[in-house]
Amino acid sequence: MNRKVRVRFAPSPTGPLHIGGVRTALYNYLFAKQNGGDFIFRIEDTDSTRFVPGAEEYIIESFKWLGIKFDEGVGIGGKYGPYRQSERKDIYKKYVDQLLDEGKAYIAFDTPEELDTKRAEIENFQYDASTRMQMRNSLTMAAEEVEKLIADGTQYVVRFKIEPGIDVHVNDIIRGDVSINSSILDDKVLFKSADQLPTYHLANIVDDHLMEVSHVIRGEEWLPSSPLHVLLYEAFGWKDTMPEFAHLPLLLKPVGNGKLSKRDGDKLGFPVFPLEWHDPKSGEVSSGYREKGYLPQAVINFLALLGWNPGTDQEILSMKELIEQFNLGKCSKNGARFDYNKGIWFNQQYLLMLSPMEWTPEFDKVLKENNISCTLEKEAKVVELMRQKVIEYVDGQGNKKKRNISFVRDLWPLCKFFFVAPQYDMEDKFVKKNWKAGTYQEMDELVGVLSAIDDFTVDCLKEMVEGWVEARGFKPWNAWRVCLVGTGQGPDMYELAAFLGKEETLSRMENALKVLGDIKE
Ligand code: GLU
Repeated sequence: MNRKVRVRFAPSPTGPLHIGGVRTALYNYLFAKQNGGDFIFRIEDTDSTRFVPGAEEYIIESFKWLGIKFDEGVGIGGKYGPYRQSERKDIYKKYVDQLLDEGKAYIAFDTPEELDTKRAEIENFQYDASTRMQMRNSLTMAAEEVEKLIADGTQYVVRFKIEPGIDVHVNDIIRGDVSINSSILDDKVLFKSADQLPTYHLANIVDDHLMEVSHVIRGEEWLPSSPLHVLLYEAFGWKDTMPEFAHLPLLLKPVGNGKLSKRDGDKLGFPVFPLEWHDPKSGEVSSGYREKGYLPQAVINFLALLGWNPGTDQEILSMKELIEQFNLGKCSKNGARFDYNKGIWFNQQYLLMLSPMEWTPEFDKVLKENNISCTLEKEAKVVELMRQKVIEYVDGQGNKKKRNISFVRDLWPLCKFFFVAPQYDMEDKFVKKNWKAGTYQEMDELVGVLSAIDDFTVDCLKEMVEGWVEARGFKPWNAWRVCLVGTGQGPDMYELAAFLGKEETLSRMENALKVLGDIKE
């Protein structure tokens, strides 16, 4: 059947959005866009006990940052609204009643204590065809008794009556025909009298129908819920509009077995949430990709390739290219290892695609934190000179490592000397090696050469200094670097001197001569 593609992302606002949820939303978005379809944002908040304040706002802000746009839903509107399930209470009741009237569901009065007793009595107890006739429900009790209990205000739930021994087929775009025998399913609770609210199961499925969802694209952990989806669609008589399913591969731990957890992130030092999250109850702060200095495009590109690839060597894909090339059917069935170092690499690639000026809003913040104020033009110059450099860092396990500059913040430790005159340390390896007998005289001479230059530009500096180098046969570079940087870092010396300007260059050199002094043989 050819119908309009309508997909949804339907989080429950129970906390911050996990990075796996972001990947799910991204795949839905790519699929919707490439098919000219609609992408719906639905909030599944019928379980009030799990509601966390701020979670919904957090989710909305995350997608805004990432550039994933919804066509309709919470905060946007649309003709299938409201899109927050807690505002749809009245809609669900009639579907519960329909199942009850048709004998496809029943009312159960078993208290939590009674259920516990049964669990103790029967090994692997499950409320299903094998046990339901031993329980206190409308199948085992007289109609008058049921009515009386309800009239007395006794709490009850409505359970779906699942016929055992049926092979339920789930048509999964990634996994093919998944067949699950209904005997393993329990009679799911669809509605609770206590809060007059449907459970997640019912609301999720009724809404998929009412919102004309064509494809249910979600994480693999929801695969066990899909036979219920199929059975309820059938029970309601909606078989013809059954959505197609795609259960996405799990995100796996960077090392070892099992699925990616927040603990892995804490241990290895990477975020598992798009934005920083401040837990309203515990006050705990969890790091986010945005605050860590990732570019949203880099996060998108990184996540897009966790579970799918274009089948070529191309790794850098813009959102536009992802929309064109994404192929839901070619997603992997197996879990995708969460290689967070690859995420860092993507950020480096995307940062290098920005102009130096585009680095400055963030770089300026870092400089301000260090009490430095500077023009954006000069900051951009520093970025231009330094953005390809390598930094040393300590990884999550305390090991010293090296990598390319991958975050704007990486610049600061490498760039401090552009803004602050160095302190000289004779114990620094580079200083020790390069400030030797004779160096004082060479640098003193260089001060003379530089003093005579009025036009302190790279070209002019180069011409004058190289003339002097040729005439005198000195190799002044490392010692000059000691004077201006204080150690063995930094860009080309002419670039640095031109950046600092004549006054600052000469002042640093005079200071180096004074502090480091004339070394005797
Ligand atoms: N509310 C579910 C969640 O929290 C939605 C699952 C689904 O996509 O059907 O992820």
